[in-house]
Amino acid sequence: MRIVIFGGTGFIGKYLCTYFSNIGKDVIIVSRSKGIVQNSLIRRVTWKDLEENIEPLEGSDVFINLAGETINQRWTKKSKERILASRVDTTKKIIAIIARLKDKPKVLINGSAVGIYGMSDKESFDESSATSTEDFLAKVANEWEKEADACDKAVRLVKLRIGVVLGKEGGALQKMVLPYKLFAGGRIGTGNQWLSWIHIEDLARLIEFCILNDKMNGVVNATAPHPITNDEFGRTIARVLGRPHFLPVPSVVFKLLLGEMALMVLKGQKVLPKKVLDYGFNYNFPTIEKAIRDLLTD
Ligand code: NDP
Repeated sequence: MRIVIFGGTGFIGKYLCTYFSNIGKDVIIVSRSKGIVQNSLIRRVTWKDLEENIEPLEGSDVFINLAGETINQRWTKKSKERILASRVDTTKKIIAIIARLKDKPKVLINGSAVGIYGMSDKESFDESSATSTEDFLAKVANEWEKEADACDKAVRLVKLRIGVVLGKEGGALQKMVLPYKLFAGGRIGTGNQWLSWIHIEDLARLIEFCILNDKMNGVVNATAPHPITNDEFGRTIARVLGRPHFLPVPSVVFKLLLGEMALMVLKGQKVLPKKVLDYGFNYNFPTIEKAIRDLLTD
């Protein structure tokens, strides 16, 4: 099986490359730059190469789209434009590549994010819930998904609404752990904001489940079955590391430091992965305790 990963050099993409090549899949990364690859089962092409020649992608089975400018930067008018445009433009290009291919992939797994449901401390959301356009992240995810909807109907489209991915090699966890390592951890803001998270190994397995299962079509939430609040998250990190959880950080500090981007830590949403659970997906890390123990202890 050949899997093409657009944005395969990032935090999630790198993990997927290793995961799929370790189980014998042929992986191609599509990147903005030429560069070295980890092993001989992985090839790398650039978007530019593909403008001239899409031959390397002929006969691939799966396209996974994770490309887009990082949202972990101060949100200025300019950076917000780049964050949105990078996702819309790359998805447009992928759809155009699929249209040009004689031998098309069977499935396109297009990245999206749980932020699409908007922010709420009270509601819970599954794949049947309405989406929001009230805040920036919700707008970006909506536009991203809308672009993917233009995909050739012969290709199965999975719009993967990814929760906060917890891994060892980067991502949100490594940033959130730092204050605890410095004995300065505590809840952020009210601590009641929801965190819909997923262990990176389960994300890779869930993507594999979507590839192998034809019933996985349209919107699929990629989160663990037990979302937690920011306070519970902090308490779990503290317990696992044997550090205190006592120094609350008021919202105003984050707003001053991060501007509008503070939304990402001060607000959240409770998102449930109803579709994959209905179809029998089993999580290796269903609870935050299990995930954090795996990721923070040797
Ligand atoms: P990363 O930022 O680590 O990687 C994204 C990749 O996209 C980069 O490696 C880069 O590849 C490519 N990229 C960056 N900027 C641009 C640009 N301007 N135009 C085109 N391509 C670009 O992201 P993650 O791996 O963490 O996440 C992957 C996707 O999933 C992102 O779109 C993210 O928003 C989404 N997501 C991530 C979550 C998380 O917790 N990490 C949660 C929910 C959604 P290259 O330089 O090789 O071109």
